[in-house]
Amino acid sequence: MKLQSYWHDTAPAFANAAQGPVEGHYDVAVVGAGFTGLAAARQLAKAGARVIVLEAERVGWGASGRNGGHLNNGLAHSFIGAKAELGKERAVALYRALDASIDTIEALIAEEGIDCNFRRAGKLKLASKPQHYDAIARNFEAVHAEVDAETALLSASDLKSEVGAPFHGAMLSKKSAMMHMGRYVVGLAEAARRHGATIVEGAAVSDHRQADGRHVLKTEKGTVTADQVLIATGAYTTPNFGYFRRRIIPVGSFIIATRPLTETEIAATMPGNRTCVNSMNIGNYWRLAPDNRLIFGGRARFSATS
Ligand SMILES: Cc1cc2nc3c(=O)[nH]c(=O)nc-3n(C[C@H](O)[C@H](O)[C@H](O)COP(=O)(O)OP(=O)(O)OC[C@H]3O[C@@H](n4cnc5c(N)ncnc54)[C@H](O)[C@@H]3O)c2cc1C
Repeated sequence: MKLQSYWHDTAPAFANAAQGPVEGHYDVAVVGAGFTGLAAARQLAKAGARVIVLEAERVGWGASGRNGGHLNNGLAHSFIGAKAELGKERAVALYRALDASIDTIEALIAEEGIDCNFRRAGKLKLASKPQHYDAIARNFEAVHAEVDAETALLSASDLKSEVGAPFHGAMLSKKSAMMHMGRYVVGLAEAARRHGATIVEGAAVSDHRQADGRHVLKTEKGTVTADQVLIATGAYTTPNFGYFRRRIIPVGSFIIATRPLTETEIAATMPGNRTCVNSMNIGNYWRLAPDNRLIFGGRARFSATS
C-alpha cells in the first residue's frame, strides 16, 4: 500500500516554481497554493496585478491534491430544505451558483488547455435505504420542476446499467462532472505562472503583520510586502493566522485508490462510469479514475487525523 496522493502520483509535477529568495513588493500576496489560491492568483495576474503565491509545501499539497475528484452541481443536501431555510429565490440562486462553478472550471480548462480528463459524467445520489429513496424522489420533483431540468429519477431496476451494488434508486444530476485533480491543480499553477504570478513552494508564512499600510509576510526563504493578502490556507490554516484558525473546524475525509479494475470488474460494479454518492449521514463517494482505479472516499471520523 502506498500512502501518497493518487492524484499527485499520476500527474506531472509543477515545473515552474520560483526558487527564491522571497523578496520585493507585490500588489497581492496569496498564501496557499490549492484551488482557491491558484485560481485567484491566475485571475489577478491575468488582470495585470503583480502576484506572489507562498505555499508551505508544494502546489496542491492540501485538500486540492487529496480529494474525490467529483465536481458536483446543485446542492449536496435537500433543495426542499434549502427553500424552507432560505426562501425559494435564494435557494435557486445558490443552486445556480454551484452549477456556474462547474461552468467556470470547464471554461478555464478550455481557455488554458489543461489536460485533466474533465468529463460531464453525471452524478448519482444513491438511496442506501428504501425511505431514503422516498426523500430523494420528493427532492427530485422540486429540483426538476423548479431549478434543474437536467436531472432524472432512477428506480432500483434502472440502476442495473449504472451500479452493481443493490441501491434503492437514485437521482441523476447530468451536469455534474469529474476530472483528474492532480493534473488540474498543476495545470492551474502553470496557467497562473504564464499570466505572470510568482509561485514559491516550501515557503510557509510564519509571520504576518501590517506596517506602514503594507502587509509584511515572513517565510524561511525571505520576506515580502504586499498591498493586499489573500489567505487561502483552508483546513490547513496555521495558528499564526489566529483570526481564521479560530473560525475553521477541520473535518476528516479520506480517499483510497484501488489497483486498476478489469473490464469484468467494471461491468459488475460501475458500468455507468459516473460519480456516485450514497445517502448515509456519514456517506461515501466514489468514481473510476482515468486508469480505471476505484477512487473511494468517506468521512470515516470527524477528526482531522490522517
Ligand atoms: C478526502 C477529501 C475528498 C474531497 N472530495 C471532494 C470532491 O470530490 N469534490 C469537491 O468539490 N471537493 C472535495 N473535497 C474538498 C476540496 O478538496 C477542498 O474544498 C479544496 O481542495 C480546498 O482548496 P483550497 O485551495 O481552499 O485549500 P487546500 O487545497 O487545502 O490548500 C491550502 C494550502 O495552504 C497551504 N498553507 C497552509 N498554511 C500555510 C502557511 N502558513 N503558509 C503557506 N502555505 C500554507 C497548505 O500547504 C495547502 O497547500 C474533498 C476534500 C477531501 C480532504
